[in-house]
Amino acid sequence: PADVKDSDPKHIIHVTAEMAPIAKVGGLGDVVTGLARACLSRGHTVDIMLPFYECIQKQHVKDLTVITKYNSYHDGNWVPTNAYRGVVSGIPVIFIEPSNQFFKGQYVYGGSFNELEAYLFFSRACLEWMQQVTSTQPDIIHVHEWQTGALPLLYWDIYHHLSLKPRIVLTIHNMEHYGECSKEQLSKSGLEGSVYASIDKAVDDRTIGHNPERLSLLKGGIVYSNAVVTVSPTYLKETLCTGWLASTLLRNRDKYYGILNGIDTTMWNPATDIFLPVKFNDQKPEGKKFCKYYVQRGLGLASEGTQDGNHVPDITYKAPLVVCITRLVPQKGLHLISHAIKCIEELGGQMVILGKASDVQVETEFECLAKLHNQGPCIRILLMFSEELSHMLYAAADMVLVPSIYEPCGLTQMIGMRYGAVPVVRKTGGLADTVFDMDDQSNHNRANGFVFEGIDEGSLNCALDRAFMYYREKPDEWNGILKKVMEVDNSWNNTAGKYVELYNSKSVRL
Ligand code: ADP
Repeated sequence: PADVKDSDPKHIIHVTAEMAPIAKVGGLGDVVTGLARACLSRGHTVDIMLPFYECIQKQHVKDLTVITKYNSYHDGNWVPTNAYRGVVSGIPVIFIEPSNQFFKGQYVYGGSFNELEAYLFFSRACLEWMQQVTSTQPDIIHVHEWQTGALPLLYWDIYHHLSLKPRIVLTIHNMEHYGECSKEQLSKSGLEGSVYASIDKAVDDRTIGHNPERLSLLKGGIVYSNAVVTVSPTYLKETLCTGWLASTLLRNRDKYYGILNGIDTTMWNPATDIFLPVKFNDQKPEGKKFCKYYVQRGLGLASEGTQDGNHVPDITYKAPLVVCITRLVPQKGLHLISHAIKCIEELGGQMVILGKASDVQVETEFECLAKLHNQGPCIRILLMFSEELSHMLYAAADMVLVPSIYEPCGLTQMIGMRYGAVPVVRKTGGLADTVFDMDDQSNHNRANGFVFEGIDEGSLNCALDRAFMYYREKPDEWNGILKKVMEVDNSWNNTAGKYVELYNSKSVRL
């Protein structure tokens, strides 16, 4: 429950490249904000340290003030740096702003500065601020992804002797990005790069393509953190079996944990969501019908409602609306997403894709699909990032599609469920831990969606066919699933306690 207070409150500082909603690209931003809020409400002290990206909209930060001006080391120089304090969505944030070009640009990632060097700088600048400049003594420094993977190395190498002894926890949200780094680049942070260039430290240890010159900040983070977490139990198993970090993770198995992410129910609550035209919840789901109608009208999709919203057809209206809200990258099953368009059109449903591509070729491919379909009555492909639209789409959707090739945890299926959208997912990673098939007799109690295993189009067809069949021909059962998915508790209330246990555990020592 939300009012649990932990008996031994800790001071936790997250050091991260993303935070929702001000600097969010994907799930990392949501997770940091949600976990921080859950720990705050359990009585802990929590701060988030974030680069002061130029693209952050300052009006979303309350009480923004410069608190410290200091210098932090990078590449032979001490860079003048400002630390600001502010409050974002109720959570205290410390923003680190170097006076050089780092973190300038229109977006969180992809600016014209060297990203690897910028995050090396940031990792050190956070430690410098905590340990040297302000003597802040957190119990836990919680780092995330490769971007802050060098922080544990810097801590043990340079700062350890200065301070009380914080424990360092690393959460890996996605193994795909491992922060490839040369010795020379690592040396720019003030570490001696060659010291870390061995297999037991930070060197890339894959057998094929092994390169003794290549270091990985993620691997360094794994070796030098007190505890390492990944974001679902199934992804933990997958990462121990395959991928080049498998051997490193196996060697560190006794400090490696799988903790399922939660969703931040303050941000994701259909009963209070400021972006929805009508609010609803599991007790009063009627508003959802209007949200669907509203989105259909807004996007020019066929609908059976009328302008005043009073004659919206009930849920038995026969064109289910499927949404897919995603970064458009290979991990997400691009060929299955584009195949779904065809399949859903043939089945007489509607589909809205809200997606942002970072690769030009992928963007062009989806632009072509958008040109082909966006004038018709049943498909909309919206190539942008929009927090506001994402909320409206979850609320409008009958189903949320997540056909990922791999998925460490996945938040969209969980958010979808809370907003009354039934998940149709591929059985992988966190999707396998949160969605259970309606037709799986052995697990009927937990059944809450439609699951397929193959990465071929036929497997997807089969799952969509079954979902459409339930929607159209078994309205009672469909309403039953709807009620069930809205009631599932995938919130941090349910799972933050596992992180707190880890923050408290004394068993792992370097
Ligand atoms: P990942 O972290 O791999 O991107 P997750 O499912 O863990 O995937 O988290 C995705 C988060 O990003 C969700 O909050 C989702 O709503 C949001 N999101 C993804 N793409 C978009 C988009 N184009 N516009 C708005 N929100 C998006």
